[in-house]
Amino acid sequence: MASCCSTENHNPVKNPCPVCGTAGKAVAISSLYHQIRFPDNLTVPAADYYLCAKPDCALGYYSDTGLCFKKSQLREAEHIAAGWLCYCFDISKADYRAALDNRNADEIKKFVIEQTRIGSCACSSRNPSGQCCLADFKRVEKVYANEPQ
Ligand SMILES: [Zn+2]
Repeated sequence: MASCCSTENHNPVKNPCPVCGTAGKAVAISSLYHQIRFPDNLTVPAADYYLCAKPDCALGYYSDTGLCFKKSQLREAEHIAAGWLCYCFDISKADYRAALDNRNADEIKKFVIEQTRIGSCACSSRNPSGQCCLADFKRVEKVYANEPQ
């Protein structure tokens, strides 16, 4: 129902976080079962869920039906706050930046790419987004490359 006056045209942010307004990432409910701490993970109502990926926003998962789980309820809360990059292989953004400094970032990325290729990663349960982190490696590299050395 797109018309020139529809609100969609005026609100380009998809599934915005109700707290901070950041665009939400769709997440499978199975990721919530793995991420939300016991015993709250046993009673997650069926819904379409989104993750607020902004590290300093208190909200973790939310649904378009008004259900909310805070980041503090998640097993990875401390890692999110610390700026984690790869949840499967325990690599922080700081670790990867240090590797870029030390010129051994390629080896780390090759390892992650290879494990992902052969199916030894665990993104859907380890990563709060349920997504592969390889795109995030590129983001860190881009930020790093644009910084004055
Ligand atoms: Zn948020």
